[in-house]
Order: sequence, then structure tokens, then C-alpha cells
Amino acid sequence: MIIPKKVEKALNDHLELEASAVFSYLATAAWCEKEGLEGCAKFFRKQSDEEHVHFMKFFDYINEVGGHAIVPAVKQPKTDFKDVLETCESALKGEQKVTKSIYNIIKVAREEEDHATIDFLRFFVDEQREEEVQFNRIIDKIKLIGKGAQSLYYIDKEFEKISTQKPAGGAQNAEKA
Ligand code: MG
Repeated sequence: MIIPKKVEKALNDHLELEASAVFSYLATAAWCEKEGLEGCAKFFRKQSDEEHVHFMKFFDYINEVGGHAIVPAVKQPKTDFKDVLETCESALKGEQKVTKSIYNIIKVAREEEDHATIDFLRFFVDEQREEEVQFNRIIDKIKLIGKGAQSLYYIDKEFEKISTQKPAGGAQNAEKA
């Protein structure tokens, strides 16, 4: 099977976003650990692991369909945050960028009549919807809980809960992929 060149390029461009997400979430986890927010750190570490799974799915797919996966250079991520709310707003922005890139690959794949790639990307359409919904919910919750030391303690516990509930390796529908 030979993947259309334009699709291969779009997929390779996308690899950078998934790789950046791995390190963005890791940098966020480091900031949380420094702040003593263990629950938040655990959550962002899990997010980072999940992004590595995503990266490998794209990497393997490109090679599987006769392309050449190019490991990208990754820029240094944001390492400092004003507060927990900013970590989540920043994460949401990153996820929205990823969603946009995935939609763009689908557009290119449609133009090239590359149904295999469109099918491959279905998992990521679901995954991105879940990620954006998740961060929107968390942001609303953080705003609801409010500021202050006690609030922060409670927020950290909430993150701990979310990271325990979330299945390892990614999307709620990971078993379908
Ligand atoms: Mg991802």
C-alpha cells in the first residue's frame, strides 16, 4: 500500500504536535510537583503517557502504509504557570490545535480519496472530543471551586480522582483502536 504524498506530509507534520504534547504535559507535571500538587502532577503525567501512545500510533501508521515517519524536532514547552487554571487553559489550547490539525489531515485524505487514513483518524476525532470536553469541564470546576489554599487542596484531590478513573493509555474507546 502506498500512501498519497500529501497525506504522508500532513501526517508527518502532525507528529510534531503529538510529540510536543508529550513534553508539554510532562513540563506541566513538573510544575505541579514543584508546587506540591501531587494529584495534578499524576494527572498530567498520565496525559503525557497518553500523548506518547498517540505519537506512536501515527508513527506506526505512516510506516505501515508505505510512508516514512520523520521524528520531529520539538520546541521547549511552557514550563511555568501562574496557577492550576492556567495549566488547564494552556492544555485546552494545545488540544484545540491538535484537533484542528487532525481535521486538516482528514481534509487532505478526502481530497486524495485515501479512505484508509480517514478510517485511521476516526479514533482521534473521538479522542480529541473527549480531551476538549474533559478540559472544559475541569476549567469550569476550578472556576467554581475558586481560589485559596483550601480550594487548591480540593482541586488537587479532584485531579487525583480523575487520573485514577481515566483508563491508562488514552481514550475511553481505546479498546476499539
Ligand atoms: Mg494527542
